[in-house]
Amino acid sequence: MWEYSAGKQICFFMIRVKTAMKDVLTGLDQYEVFLKKLEKEIEQIGDDRIIIVYTDIKHFKYINDTYGYKVGDALLQDFVEEFMGKTDIIICAARVYSDNFVVANRVPPDYCSNEEFRDLIHQLNQDREAKFREKYLNSRLQFCTGISVIDKNSRSLDAETAVSNANLARKVAKEMESDSCVLFDQSMMEGIKREVEITSSIPKALAQKEFQVYFQPKIDTDTLELIGAEALVRWQKPDGSFVYPDEFIPLIERSGQVVDVDYYVYREVFSFLAKRLAEGKKVVPISLNVSRVHLQKMHILQYVKELLEEFRIPCSLVEFELTESIYLDNTEQALELIKGLHNMGIKVSMDDFGSGYSSLNLLSKLPIDIIKLDRVFLKEGEMQESDRIIISCVVDMAKKLKITSLCEGVETQEQSDYLKEVGCQMQQGFYFSRPIPQAVFENLIEEK
Ligand code: C2E
Ligand code: CA
Ligand code: CA
Repeated sequence: MWEYSAGKQICFFMIRVKTAMKDVLTGLDQYEVFLKKLEKEIEQIGDDRIIIVYTDIKHFKYINDTYGYKVGDALLQDFVEEFMGKTDIIICAARVYSDNFVVANRVPPDYCSNEEFRDLIHQLNQDREAKFREKYLNSRLQFCTGISVIDKNSRSLDAETAVSNANLARKVAKEMESDSCVLFDQSMMEGIKREVEITSSIPKALAQKEFQVYFQPKIDTDTLELIGAEALVRWQKPDGSFVYPDEFIPLIERSGQVVDVDYYVYREVFSFLAKRLAEGKKVVPISLNVSRVHLQKMHILQYVKELLEEFRIPCSLVEFELTESIYLDNTEQALELIKGLHNMGIKVSMDDFGSGYSSLNLLSKLPIDIIKLDRVFLKEGEMQESDRIIISCVVDMAKKLKITSLCEGVETQEQSDYLKEVGCQMQQGFYFSRPIPQAVFENLIEEK
């Protein structure tokens, strides 16, 4: 009796070990098992290459949220079938977690180049996307893949690092519009190092007031007078070097820290305006940039309300700039934010108008006060006829919709004169002034 039940226990234990080695939903290897297999394959690499393909499904959460987990699970199973069934070069595959999959392929020397392999996967992704979008009624579903390669020269690489390189390339692919598959290269590691360096120094930079607000004047087209400014953040490190917003804003958007930096800028600007008003000095309206990240939580309305109460400045002295792409991604939240700001008496502009592709469509949906024409319309050199036509049409349309138009990136007199000719009310750009520190801007207001 004892022997029998002990045997049963052993048998049960073996079954558990066996199933635990596979992912229950997809039947693929568990990730740890995959890594062990991969390690062995690397040891026996010979003249072959091992190509790691790491894929995730963009907007998968949308499927789960909209159609439920059953459909989500079915999609993952379908995906694995597509993933696995086609080729004999696959040596192992695993679901890393959720909708992240990794496959290792052993590729003989004469099979294809790494770049050809990447193009092949890109094509495969596109074909799969079309199929899946139809089946799961989701026009946004996308596959994002990163690839890393191990050959006899890099065989000292361990399995985990090889997968993490492919995953890094996948993250790069996820941010790209044009390519769904990216091949890892060492420079990506540099990018990650820089990202870590930047994001980890933000809290200290905020505490030590390394951020400064610069102001770029806005000019009235008819009178050429200063009628406002845009607040643009500058980060000067203790060693005197500058980090520019084009570099650090996208990184701190990813980490969410942009909210703190934006709030810092808002507070500085409110305090600047309040101080000048208290001293009986002249002021002009200042516009503030709003990152897309604010729309995820919407604390921004409460924060602006608190600032208005604390500093007691007229609401007509601040405006908020939302970039065109914010509206595209989150039309509902953007609408809520605009309404909330309007309720406080604050104007809203659509920044970078024309840099996306459905700006016109959005204008009819959103109660915008000002459009800021992106500087893409004002290319270097003489103005192109096509740009002139587009600018004049946009300005005309804005007028009919009773929206004020401002053109940014004005660098030459020719451009400025043309904007006057077509009736664009405001201008901003290097032709008038670069963004300038507060003290210089204050002198400019005094001269006004
Ligand atoms: P943006 O909002 O489109 O700001 C205008 C950018 O165009 C500024 O770059 C400005 O220096 C530049 N610019 C202005 N006139 C000209 C011109 O005539 N020619 C050329 N070539 N460039 C011109 P900056 O200050 O480097 O800012 C870059 C971007 O970073 C901004 O683009 C904005 O999206 C973001 N940003 C800046 N400050 C903040 C901030 O406090 N919060 C948030 N969320 N984003 C910010
Ligand atoms: Ca702006
Ligand atoms: Ca802009």
